[in-house]
Amino acid sequence: MNKQAIYNLNREELYNWGKDNGISSFYAEKIWLNLYRFRVQDFDEFEGLKPEIIEKLKASFFITKLETELVQKSDDGTMKFLFRLKDDSLIETVVMNHNFGRSVCVTTQLGCNIGCSFCASGLMPKNRDLEVAEILAQIMTVNKKLMADSEEIISHVVVMGIGEPFDNYDNLMKFLSIISDDKGLAIAKRQITVSTSGIVPKILEFANEKIRVNMAISLHAPNNEIRSKLMRINKTYPLEELFDAIHKYIEITKKRVTFEYILIRDLNDSLDEARELLELIKPLGKNAYVNLIPYNPVSELEYERSRDEDIDKFFEFLIQNKVRCVLRREHGGEIEAACGQLRSNAI
Ligand code: SF4
Repeated sequence: MNKQAIYNLNREELYNWGKDNGISSFYAEKIWLNLYRFRVQDFDEFEGLKPEIIEKLKASFFITKLETELVQKSDDGTMKFLFRLKDDSLIETVVMNHNFGRSVCVTTQLGCNIGCSFCASGLMPKNRDLEVAEILAQIMTVNKKLMADSEEIISHVVVMGIGEPFDNYDNLMKFLSIISDDKGLAIAKRQITVSTSGIVPKILEFANEKIRVNMAISLHAPNNEIRSKLMRINKTYPLEELFDAIHKYIEITKKRVTFEYILIRDLNDSLDEARELLELIKPLGKNAYVNLIPYNPVSELEYERSRDEDIDKFFEFLIQNKVRCVLRREHGGEIEAACGQLRSNAI
């Protein structure tokens, strides 16, 4: 019999498997707790289960493990992992330190078809979607490493690594349900953020999901001309359509939206663009939050990081105009933290 990855199952599916195999929900819950509350990665070490249940688990499932190919650590404590999957593919996962805890940025696809012109991952077309187990295993592997080093484990999750999460939607939603399950990892929904390039129909679907986590939009430009140059998805879903969907999302969820804005020299970083950005997000009021991120150059691409004085002017303009805005501390610039760089350099 072909064994399945147990991390691909949500709690209900695991209980159903138990029922089909003569295992009561009492013991199915113990399996779930071993997996996610105690984070045990070997069935033989599961506690509170009869030997015959362990044998049934071993006959049906395996626990997805990622081989660590490389770990880079920067001065600010950012860690970047390059993991090898079972089929030999490589993926990246980044762990960042903040004053509010530790966040992990997970990858959802092998490569990315969105093809943003500033992004290292956009240089590698999508090979396949990651399974739920492969997305989840990034968190489990990182947590295990942090626990082994007696460090604080992951408190926040951002789905912002390689790939467009809404292009792997069903797996994304199942992943979110597993990590936020209060009997398992119990990561608070307000501490989970999914970032999208702006796939309009999926934004509306996401707004209507029972699982309510935060949404970030990779905006990067205040008008269609610049945005289409940077993100070809803007030709399919231009800013008018995108903002229509964002308004509806806020109306339904009553949640604020974060806008990621990478500052690229002489392209989107002048005061004129700051003014346009202000006009674009002003109607959203307090429901808009801007993350300004100085560009982290990619050797194969022509774009450059904005000058420090332009970054400061852009940021101050937004602050003076009462935009809720943060200039993001650069995480791991010196360790190739721009998405996709580690992987693209390794293959
Ligand atoms: S920025 Fe994100 S959506 Fe765009 S190509 Fe890179 S990984 Fe894909």
